[in-house]
Amino acid sequence: MTEGGKVIIFTAPSGAGKTTVVKHLLKHFDFLSFSISATTRSRRPHEINGLDYYFMDVIEFQNNIDAGSFLEWEEVYPGKFYGTLFSEVSRIWADDKHILFDVDVQGATSIKNYYTENALAVFIKPPSLQILIERLKTRGTESTESLGQRIERIKNELTYENRFDKILVNDILEVTLKEAEMIVEDFIKLND
Ligand code: ADP
Ligand code: 5GP
Repeated sequence: MTEGGKVIIFTAPSGAGKTTVVKHLLKHFDFLSFSISATTRSRRPHEINGLDYYFMDVIEFQNNIDAGSFLEWEEVYPGKFYGTLFSEVSRIWADDKHILFDVDVQGATSIKNYYTENALAVFIKPPSLQILIERLKTRGTESTESLGQRIERIKNELTYENRFDKILVNDILEVTLKEAEMIVEDFIKLND
């Protein structure tokens, strides 16, 4: 598929439901493949290196920046770097799939600007800030410090909602997943 592949980006504040939606879409559509990001944050117990993320230390991440290996990268939280490797895009298109991204709002903006009409950027919006914070706490993956950093950032991330192609409100999960399927189908059909 090489340069003919499409790019679908899901972005949102932390805890809004990107991972949940993206995992569902990957199971549902075999024409999609997940862009595995590089990150310097620590691995959560259920996460697998090379499947959920490429976990690396800051030196390895910096070497990749210096080598020009990233399509985009961000220091999403203090000292925690995340980035999309060009090699992921080549790998997925060589496999004849369209690419699914789960990135922060700035990464989504960069990827959309890079791939323009070949890309669709979807912002997942929580029903309210309070519900978002509750979901993040219930997920149970954050220390008090990292939860505080995430909440600080969420307020800013919520202001990005109108900068993307679609807004998907994640209230009732089953409804959200159906809507996400339709958004993907429409975009792929439109561009075929
Ligand atoms: P993100 O990847 O955007 O940080 P997650 O997909 O990890 O968000 O979702 C955050 C938490 O909220 C998870 O524990 C997930 O199971 C839960 N969650 C996601 N969508 C819903 C929903 N519609 N209703 C209730 N809980 C949800
Ligand atoms: P988490 O630590 O919860 O997995 O991710 C934190 C944030 O980093 C989320 O908003 C997630 O979408 C974002 N993120 C994950 N990978 C990348 C990436 O490659 N680039 C950018 N810019 N953000 C990413």
